[in-house]
Amino acid sequence: MNNRNTFFSALAALEARITDACGRAGRPRAGVVLLPVTKNHPAEAVAWVAEAGLPAVGENRVQEVRDKQALVGAAIRWELIGHLQSNKVNQAVGLFDRIQSVDSVRLGQKIARGAEELGKAPFPVLLQVNAGHDPAKSGFEPAEIEACFGALVADGRLRIDGLMTIAPLAGGREAARETFRHLRLIRDRLAKAHGAALPELSMGMSGDLEEAVAEGATILRVGTALLGER
Ligand SMILES: *Cc1c(COP(=O)(O)O)cnc(C)c1O
Repeated sequence: MNNRNTFFSALAALEARITDACGRAGRPRAGVVLLPVTKNHPAEAVAWVAEAGLPAVGENRVQEVRDKQALVGAAIRWELIGHLQSNKVNQAVGLFDRIQSVDSVRLGQKIARGAEELGKAPFPVLLQVNAGHDPAKSGFEPAEIEACFGALVADGRLRIDGLMTIAPLAGGREAARETFRHLRLIRDRLAKAHGAALPELSMGMSGDLEEAVAEGATILRVGTALLGER
């Protein structure tokens, strides 16, 4: 892992990459939020992110976040970006400020119930879509998202901010860009059909953030380029 100094120089280099990508896409830098992914890194990494003035971190495991929250006093928001098992939903709703990895109606409804019990409804979520048709990835299939979105909106206890996807492992940057474009089109269709805002598109990681910015990403989830290998 990087140390504090290498973290801050990696952050400066990453910031330049994001600014360049925004410039090439004709988008304002302010339209893209960097979400550092601190999973598998010690709590120190979360403290550096807070020190840098970034608003949130991405994590993928409930227990790891419970441990880190006990160590990090810093004011920072926590976002879940990994698959959530149904027996951990109530804990997750208590620990996280937003869950980006809602991948079934059943999970969404369970989060909604947990949020109501904890007084955290409407709870902020993103719906994860398998926009790249990767058999190794979870997420709603593009063909089912329309009906599932309707069911989750009708529940009323979720605040659906937008969509999230992960590019397929295979196919390189071109397949990534196709996947990101597909997610944006799905978002546009849902927003129109339901009169919903759905402002957030969480897509793009260390290896494909330029493609994501070009296709309209508003949240970049970046781990390795900031913190080194896990
Ligand atoms: C680990 C992870 C990331 C960060 O990936 P890097 O390639 O290290 O930038 C982003 N999104 C999700 C869902 C992840 O699990």
